[in-house]
Amino acid sequence: MIRNILPSIYLKLFPEAILDFAIEEKKATCDNCALSVGKTPDHRAYQPSLKCCTFHPFQTNYLMGQILLSPTTPKDVLERIRAKIEKREYALPIGIVAPMPHQIKFAQRKDNEFGNREDWLCPYYDRIKNNCGIWKSRSSVCTSFHCLSSYGTAGFEFWDQLSDYISYIEMALMEEALLQLEFTPMEISDQLSFLNPDGQSSSRKRKQFLTKEFTSKVWKNYFEDQEEFYKKCYEIVANFSEKQFKKALGNPGIVIQKKLMTAKNAVVL
Ligand code: SF4
Ligand code: SF4
Repeated sequence: MIRNILPSIYLKLFPEAILDFAIEEKKATCDNCALSVGKTPDHRAYQPSLKCCTFHPFQTNYLMGQILLSPTTPKDVLERIRAKIEKREYALPIGIVAPMPHQIKFAQRKDNEFGNREDWLCPYYDRIKNNCGIWKSRSSVCTSFHCLSSYGTAGFEFWDQLSDYISYIEMALMEEALLQLEFTPMEISDQLSFLNPDGQSSSRKRKQFLTKEFTSKVWKNYFEDQEEFYKKCYEIVANFSEKQFKKALGNPGIVIQKKLMTAKNAVVL
């Protein structure tokens, strides 16, 4: 059921019809990765210790807050997050973004790099359990990705639509939290440019870390306590009423939600 795989913050916000959808993917066996070298059914072959996590997702501010507040977040994942904040590695009020050099290399990846490059392993991966370390707070891409589907094309279409829906919601809720913390739409828009290397200056494209001057300006009076800021974003979103959620969705969100329902109805369980 979708409610069992969704980040927990959405359980009181999503429509029941989506939450109760009993899709069950049996081919994508993540605990024992179906695409592991030696047993994969197609040309994709991943290292079992890396799986499809050789990727740095964008984690929005409120999801970062949930990770920081969760008692189950692995210690080494927390340490990596704190190191990112300390070194100014693209920790921004919108959330934690993949460093620009990684975004560029990932976009230009060769076929065999995904699933095999250990240096690309997600910072939120739990090496001890060999699984996602932030499963209840993972992003839209990670929540919806299925390498194989038991429901053929209709299954993949459903997951794509779910990805679009959650991704839209992530942006809407992240922005709403920032507006409540007195960031302006212009400031938010400037930060969103970090999600796309196109249009960045060549020196920015090479930068693994942002300068203190730049980050202190972007973070305004929250610069000294970025962890607390992310937690505040989580509290704001976690306390959203159904009415506030619908307002954040707006008409474009309702259109995306309808597309998701259509894709859901096309899946034969
Ligand atoms: S979704 Fe990822 S972890 Fe799960 S079976 Fe597929 S490649 Fe492996
Ligand atoms: S957030 Fe979790 S599922 Fe997503 S890439 Fe990282 S470890 Fe994998």
